[in-house]
Amino acid sequence: MSSPQTDADVVVIGAGLSGLVAARDLSASGRTVLVLEASQQPGGRTFADELPGLGVRVEMGGTWILEDDEPAITAELQRYGLELEYSPEPERFVFRHQGRLSDASSPSPSRQRELAAAISEAVSVEGSEPTVQDVLDGLESDDELRTWIRAWTNFVCGAPPEKVPAAVFRDVPAEYLGAMDMYSAKLHATTDALIAALIADAGVEPQLGEPVLAIDRRGDRVEIQTSRRTVTAAAVLLAVPVNTWSEIRVTPAFDGQKKEVIETGHCGRSTKVWIVATGLETAVRAVDPDGGFSYLRTDRVLPDGRSVLVGFTCEDELAQVTTTAVQVLVDRVLPEFTVDAVHSFDFNESPFFKGAWASYTEDISPTRYAVAEPPLFFAGADIAENFGTIEGAVVSGAQAAEDIDHHLTQRESAR
Ligand SMILES: Cc1cc2nc3c(=O)[nH]c(=O)nc-3n(C[C@H](O)[C@H](O)[C@H](O)COP(=O)(O)OP(=O)(O)OC[C@H]3O[C@@H](n4cnc5c(N)ncnc54)[C@H](O)[C@@H]3O)c2cc1C
Repeated sequence: MSSPQTDADVVVIGAGLSGLVAARDLSASGRTVLVLEASQQPGGRTFADELPGLGVRVEMGGTWILEDDEPAITAELQRYGLELEYSPEPERFVFRHQGRLSDASSPSPSRQRELAAAISEAVSVEGSEPTVQDVLDGLESDDELRTWIRAWTNFVCGAPPEKVPAAVFRDVPAEYLGAMDMYSAKLHATTDALIAALIADAGVEPQLGEPVLAIDRRGDRVEIQTSRRTVTAAAVLLAVPVNTWSEIRVTPAFDGQKKEVIETGHCGRSTKVWIVATGLETAVRAVDPDGGFSYLRTDRVLPDGRSVLVGFTCEDELAQVTTTAVQVLVDRVLPEFTVDAVHSFDFNESPFFKGAWASYTEDISPTRYAVAEPPLFFAGADIAENFGTIEGAVVSGAQAAEDIDHHLTQRESAR
């Protein structure tokens, strides 16, 4: 149905989950779609890779989903017959607080309620925008809770509590505050299987290794310049990470909130590390906020008895993920554990991501600044209502496809 004047009805920029869901839905509506992807593989911040030499595939980016709270991704898995598996329940807990190790596994319900009350009081003050750290500083007696919530915020938001607005946790039920083990369900066949299913269903192979350099809006038609060519479309969907919007020259240029977000971006900068090691008999979960892995847990045990752990940290110490650097952090909580190998992907330094999952320094709803400017539309987990999640990517991609189809239908009927 592509109009004779354009190469495709819609050009989708970015083959992450949001772009692929949009491409699939647009194809299903009879639109011709071209997907342009900068990197050499589709999937964006969801992709699996082999632990070197071990034949085991692990998720380098997005992994866990909340089965009961994330209906859009759950529906996608059902649609393609993809099953979940679960990280093993930890049998041993380690919590590092003031240099000492304890077996604390979570804050008590009364501490969670105390924190929930403090958050709701702090954010209710007109004109104030307290951070999580501000709220923690106001908790007079409870240093242990402060330490725990620092780790939890690092892990959940991928940013330190000094940066995260307390309002983010305003509507979170008290029992979730500090709860570390809600993330367990993940795709048995890895997210590779979902990405492959979406591409097959869309019937559109993403053009890999073809970064978009410029978007030129010319009335009701858009010209897109890539590293290789110029293509035209009746609509374009920008489905790249917010932190990379600045890399694409848009004409006419963005203004208002879009310009602001290009300048500030999001602040999610967690590093996820896979660790293969010896010396652990049982599944473990460790929490260490200040200088270590805010969250570290056993993911599986290999046939040779070694453990595979996954750790998250916002610490600069891990700018280089080496066996030696990781051993130093692991020693803080599991000194008997010998690190044999590590594996990680640096989303923070990659020009195609410039950050991990989205987190914002202000209490904003990113959907507000990502309002469509037809024929230019936006999608992505970074700008979804539930930003920073796989669910957000799916919801946002599906919504954008609906909006684009509606826009094109209106234009066709106006002709
Ligand atoms: C380490 C890590 C762990 C995570 N863990 C979880 C988790 O457990 N659960 C969860 O729900 N979420 C998790 N997330 C978040 C989740 O993975 C992301 O929110 C989601 O995958 C983002 O999808 P997206 O389509 O919006 O963007 P992306 O997946 O980032 O896709 C954008 C695509 O655009 C491409 N691109 C960039 N610039 C250009 C350009 N100029 N031209 C063309 N293409 C371009 C990129 O290469 C990329 O493929 C995690 C993220 C990270 C990084």
